Amino acid sequence: MMNEEIGFAEQQNILLRLFFDEYMRLDKKLANPASLVSILFFQYCSTLYLTLINPYSNARIQITQTLWIPLHLLYVMLFWSAFKSMFTDPGRVPKNYGMLFGDQEIKKRRYCLMCRQFKPERCCHCSWCQRCVLNMDVHSFWYGNCIGFFNSKFDLLGQFYFSLSSILSLIIVSLQAIDILFKDQEPQFQSKSIIPTLILAFFLFVASIITSIQFIIKIQLVITNTTVINLDQQNPINVYDIRYSIILSFIVKENWFQVMGTNPWLWPFPIYGESGRPKGDGLTWQRIQN
Ligand SMILES: [Zn+2]
Ligand SMILES: [Zn+2]
Repeated sequence: MMNEEIGFAEQQNILLRLFFDEYMRLDKKLANPASLVSILFFQYCSTLYLTLINPYSNARIQITQTLWIPLHLLYVMLFWSAFKSMFTDPGRVPKNYGMLFGDQEIKKRRYCLMCRQFKPERCCHCSWCQRCVLNMDVHSFWYGNCIGFFNSKFDLLGQFYFSLSSILSLIIVSLQAIDILFKDQEPQFQSKSIIPTLILAFFLFVASIITSIQFIIKIQLVITNTTVINLDQQNPINVYDIRYSIILSFIVKENWFQVMGTNPWLWPFPIYGESGRPKGDGLTWQRIQN
C-alpha cells in the first residue's frame, strides 16, 4: 500500500516535471518582448473595443464604465512596470571587484572565465546576456532581459498588475456578455456581439489563471529570499532566507526589503527614488547563521 502511494506520488512528480519542462520549452520559443507587448495591447484594445467603442456593444452599463477607471490605472502601471523590467540593468559587478580577497579557494570558485572577473555571492553568469548578473533570478525571454538585484521589484510589480488587469478585464467582459445574453436586445445585435465577447472572456480567463499563478510563485520567491536558480540547485537549506532568525513579521520584512526597498510609499510604483532602493548592495548577503 505504502509502495503504491509512493509510486503514485513519484509518478505525479514526473508528470509535473514533464509538464514544467514542456512549458519552459514553449516559453523559450514564444517569449520575446514583442510578443509580450502584443499580448498586452491585444488584451487592452479588444476589451476596450468590445465594451465601449464597438457600435453594437451596450455601453450603457454604469458599472462597466465605472470599472474602466481602475482598469486604465492598472494598465498604465502594467506597461510602466514591464518597460522598467525590460530596460533596467539588473546589476553589474563593479570593476576590480574581489581583487583584495585573501581566500584562494573562494577566488577559484567565484571567478567567471567568460567575464574574467570575480563573482560576488549569488551572482551568476547569464549565457543569453553574456555577462554576470547580481543576484540573478532568471533570464526572462518575455522581457529580453535578466531579472536580478535591481529589477526584481519591477518584475514583481509587472506580474502583480498583469494579474489584476486580467482579472478586472475578465469581470468587465463577463458583465458585458451577461448583458448581451440576458437583456432584451435585437437578435442581429446579439449574434454579432456575443461570439467575440465570449472568445475574449475565455482568453482573459486563461490569462488571469496563468498570471495569478506566476505572481504567487514570484511572491513566494521574494518572501523566502529565493531565486529560480536556487530552486534548480535544490539546496535543502536556503541560507539567505533570514525570516526565521528573529520574529516572523520582522524577518519577512527583511527578505521583502531586499527586493522592494524600505519605503512602503514606493512599493506600488516601479521606481526607486532616494529611499526606495533594494536594501543592501547586491554584493554581500546576510545569512541565517550571521
Ligand atoms: Zn560572467
Ligand atoms: Zn540574461
